[in-house]
Amino acid sequence: MATVAWIGLGNMGGPMTANMVAAGHTVNGFDLSADALAAGVASGVTATSSVAEAVQGADVVFTMLPKGDHVRSVYFGDAGILAHAAKETLLIDSSTIDIESAQAVHDAAAAAGFRFVDAPVSGGMSGAAAGTLTFMIGGESGAVKDASAFISPMSANIIPTGGATTGQAAKICNNLMLFINLASTSEGAVLADRLGLDKKVFWDIASVSSGDSWALRTWYPIAGVVPNAASNHDFAPTFTAELANKDINLAIAAARSTDTPLEIGEHVQQMFQRLIDGGQGGKDCTMIVSLVDGSLPGAAGNNDAETNAAAINGKGK
Ligand code: NAD
Repeated sequence: MATVAWIGLGNMGGPMTANMVAAGHTVNGFDLSADALAAGVASGVTATSSVAEAVQGADVVFTMLPKGDHVRSVYFGDAGILAHAAKETLLIDSSTIDIESAQAVHDAAAAAGFRFVDAPVSGGMSGAAAGTLTFMIGGESGAVKDASAFISPMSANIIPTGGATTGQAAKICNNLMLFINLASTSEGAVLADRLGLDKKVFWDIASVSSGDSWALRTWYPIAGVVPNAASNHDFAPTFTAELANKDINLAIAAARSTDTPLEIGEHVQQMFQRLIDGGQGGKDCTMIVSLVDGSLPGAAGNNDAETNAAAINGKGK
């Protein structure tokens, strides 16, 4: 069994480390949030008080952090991973970050004598809890192979993507499609409701028809249909609107650098921006449905608080 250092015990890192502990590994965790650290300890993680302490004696270091800036900040500098880990330690970043940051960490890790892979994931919090995430891994083939062995308790699919940063490239394109699917699912769900269809009957049809998607099956944005969906829990975040906006902006930046028009992606990004501007950036990204049913305070079509609450809970108008 291995000694694992884990930096970032949030919505994804929390359940992922629980599966590493369940597989028999020792997991030394660090998070800036005391609540996240306490939740990790409750599932068997050993709390540490710094990145430097977490990486001592580790066979492998995972990072699961919000954005490229966070990843750079824990890797670089006097207090960072590269300054404190042993050179034999395998370094794995599973955050979803911009390609430039991923390349910068690849370059700095190689220059310092480390093996590093970019290994972002898909499958959401439910996949993290179930140990069924898809990992897409970019880097040197020997490091990718060794990373796959550590990743196994958390995943149903481990797919090597090629050289450095190709894992992030795959993830960015996947999430562009996810968030477009989420927006289209929100429109279809609200329209079906307003046409008088029973919400469960419509979901039963769409989930075995051509309107099907992962977003529809896992994140249905109207309450009372998919039990674990955030719509049933007042949109408590499983994947915040802020992070969704970050991901779709990563796709837009990559598209601009490759002269690729993303007409629908750019529109969906503007929807997330409206959600954030409406004060809901910390809520679940599936709250994008509030722009369709008019329940976002200040959104077109509805400003009445009682109707807003009913609409957002899928009770229709
Ligand atoms: P989160 O915000 O819930 O968790 C991130 C954690 O990192 C927080 O607990 C935060 O306190 C901690 N953190 C931030 N800076 C830190 C630092 N310098 N040192 C230590 N800890 C620090 O985010 P999440 O939903 O777990 O997502 C993490 C990454 O995974 C993101 O890149 C996201 O895009 C990606 N992702 C998320 C999902 C999802 O469904 N939530 C799915 C796939 C991929």
